[in-house]
Amino acid sequence: VLVVKCGGADGIRADAVCADVAGLVSAGTPVVLVHGGSAAVDRLAGRLGVPARRLVSPSGVTTRHTDAAALEVLTLALLGAVRPALLTELGRLGVAAVGLSGADAGLLRAERKKATRARVDGRTVVVRDDHSGRIVEVRAGLLRALLAEGYTPVVSPPGVATDDGGLVNVNADRVASAVAVALGARALVLLTAAPGVLADPADERSVLAEHRVAGSDPPAHVRGGMAVKLIAAAEALAGGIGEVVVADGRVDRPVSAALAGGGTRVS
Ligand code: ADP
Repeated sequence: VLVVKCGGADGIRADAVCADVAGLVSAGTPVVLVHGGSAAVDRLAGRLGVPARRLVSPSGVTTRHTDAAALEVLTLALLGAVRPALLTELGRLGVAAVGLSGADAGLLRAERKKATRARVDGRTVVVRDDHSGRIVEVRAGLLRALLAEGYTPVVSPPGVATDDGGLVNVNADRVASAVAVALGARALVLLTAAPGVLADPADERSVLAEHRVAGSDPPAHVRGGMAVKLIAAAEALAGGIGEVVVADGRVDRPVSAALAGGGTRVS
């Protein structure tokens, strides 16, 4: 099994990702596609007039501040727009794709973050209305059953909270990593709007062939979403995934290119 995560930024070529997945599936490689959708969530939030707020952790990692309204928008955007676009594209290509959120048969169970520390205007404050969580369990039986029958699962956040069963935002990279570990996947491919991990985030030609995970803090050249991606990559490696690649989702055949040595191998 191959787990592919398709980033949510503008520029990611969902059509190329789907075509590549279709090729792999028809050649006999089962694939689970996990998606995010940050740009689509922000666009819908803008149209609905719901502010898209961000939290910056004390160590500098930025995440979405998912209050109740933001959670509703996120769910609408991911399950109502991003997912059906992927399912219809895969369907056109002859793939029997099935969309699952974290709430389907409790697929993605997450520990709700009770209170999150965040930096606001240089001060550390405690945020209590953030409906987000950390994946603690993937109920992979449903995925295995679908894969065994020749279906291609398309997995979307949100997850469900272990405390009250409510929806919670979960990071899609970490979902992909947890799904890969739960399935014992051969490889995890994280496709994003960058050629891989860059030595200099401002220089697209500075892509590193390899990134070695060391310690819990990201290196100075890694910021923003890429820092979270490398945490997800480290979790996959710790969970026994042999090949973890961060690669460009803006190119033709992005999955095949990543597996053929493109992008950045995380080790
Ligand atoms: P996605 O939506 O694909 O999950 P994110 O936007 O969350 O991706 O994270 C990827 C982004 O991280 C890149 O598009 C880039 O803007 C940013 N980034 C920060 N530092 C780096 C780096 N060293 N190498 C590559 N990208 C980086």
